[in-house]
Amino acid sequence: MSTKLNLSILSANSSSSKGRRFEEPSSEGRTNFQRDRDRILHSSAFRRLMHKTQVFINHEGDLFRTRLTHSLEVSQIARTCARRLYLNEDLTEALCLSHDLGHTPFGHAGQFALNRCMKKIDSISNGFEHNIQSLRIVDLLERKYAKFDGLNLSFETREGILKRCSKNAAKKLGDVAKRFIDGGNPSLEAQLANLADEVAYNHHDLDDGLRAGLLCLDDVLHIPTAMEQATIVDELYPDIEKNRRQSEIIRRMISAQVDDLVLTSISNLHNANLYSIEDVRTFSKPLVGFSSYMKENVSKLKKFLHDQMYKHPSVMEMTSVAEEVIENLFFKMINDSKEHYDVKRLRVIADTIAAMTDRHAASLHEKWFPKKVIWPSPVGFV
Ligand code: MG
Repeated sequence: MSTKLNLSILSANSSSSKGRRFEEPSSEGRTNFQRDRDRILHSSAFRRLMHKTQVFINHEGDLFRTRLTHSLEVSQIARTCARRLYLNEDLTEALCLSHDLGHTPFGHAGQFALNRCMKKIDSISNGFEHNIQSLRIVDLLERKYAKFDGLNLSFETREGILKRCSKNAAKKLGDVAKRFIDGGNPSLEAQLANLADEVAYNHHDLDDGLRAGLLCLDDVLHIPTAMEQATIVDELYPDIEKNRRQSEIIRRMISAQVDDLVLTSISNLHNANLYSIEDVRTFSKPLVGFSSYMKENVSKLKKFLHDQMYKHPSVMEMTSVAEEVIENLFFKMINDSKEHYDVKRLRVIADTIAAMTDRHAASLHEKWFPKKVIWPSPVGFV
C-alpha cells in the first residue's frame, strides 16, 4: 500500500466532521474546515494579533515578529508538512491561524501577570491561560453572526485549538476537552500544528534575537544541527556576507527540522498500524513528532533561547514593566467595579484585558496612570 493510501485514512475529513455547536447549512463551494479558516481570518481577534507581542514589544522595531506574523509562519510550516503527510491542509491552516488568538498583550509576560492577578482575587479560579482563552474567543467572544455567539467552528478545529488544559478547567468544557480527563490524542493535524508552532518560534526568535544583537551566531553554533547547517553553507558559499550566512543557516535549520518531523511521523504512523482517526485519538502517544536526535537538538535550542534571550536583562526589564502595566490595569478595573468577587465580573475583566493590543494597553495605562511606568529603551534597532 502506498504512503498516501496508508496516511490519508488517518487525516481529519471535513465531510465526517463531528459538527458545529449550532447546526448550519453547509457552505457552497467550501469544506467545513475551509469555512472555519475563513471565519478565523475574518475575526477581530485575528486582526488584533498584528499589534500583539511575540517576544519584542511592539515599539521595539518594525521587523520583529508579532503574533500575526508568527501565526502565518506557523501556518506555512504546518501546511508544508501536512501536504507531505497527506493530512487535511485546511484544518491544519485553521488551527495554526487561530492557535494564539487568546494571547494577552505583551506576550507571555501579560499572560503570567493576568493569571497571577486572577488567582490573587479568587484563589479557586482557573486563572488565565491563553489556550483556553483562544477557545473562549471562537466559542463566545466574537460577536458578529446573527444566529450565534462566537464563530461556531467545527469540533475538530475547537478540539485542536485547545492544546493544553487542566483537568479542572476541562470538566467545564465538555467533549472538546475530554482528552484532558480521559487521556488520548487530538487529530494528527492538531499534533502537527502544535509542533509547527515550536519550529516557527524557535527559529524566528533566534532570528529576531540575532537582529536585536542579544544573541551571537557563534554561540548558536554549539547546537549540533546549527553547526551542521553552517558547515554546509560555508562550503557552498565561502565568501557570503554575514547576514546572508545567518539567514541561510536558519532557513536550513528549519528545513532540517521539517524533514525530520515528516520522516519520523511517517515512520511512527506506519509502525503504529492504524486504520482511522479514532485509532489516532486512542493511541498511547502522539504520532507526529521528531526523531530522538532532533528532539535533543530542539531541547538545546530552547535552552539556549531561554538562557540567552528570554532571560536577557534587556528583555527581562521590558517584561517586568509589561507585567506591572497589566497588573495596574487589572486592579483599577477591579477597584472600579462594585462586584469585586463576582466570578463573572472577574472573567469579563480578564476578557477585556486579554483582548487589548500592546498599544491599547499601553495607552490606557498612560491615561489612567500618567508617568507611573517608564518603558525601557527598545532593545534592538532595525
Ligand atoms: Mg504560537
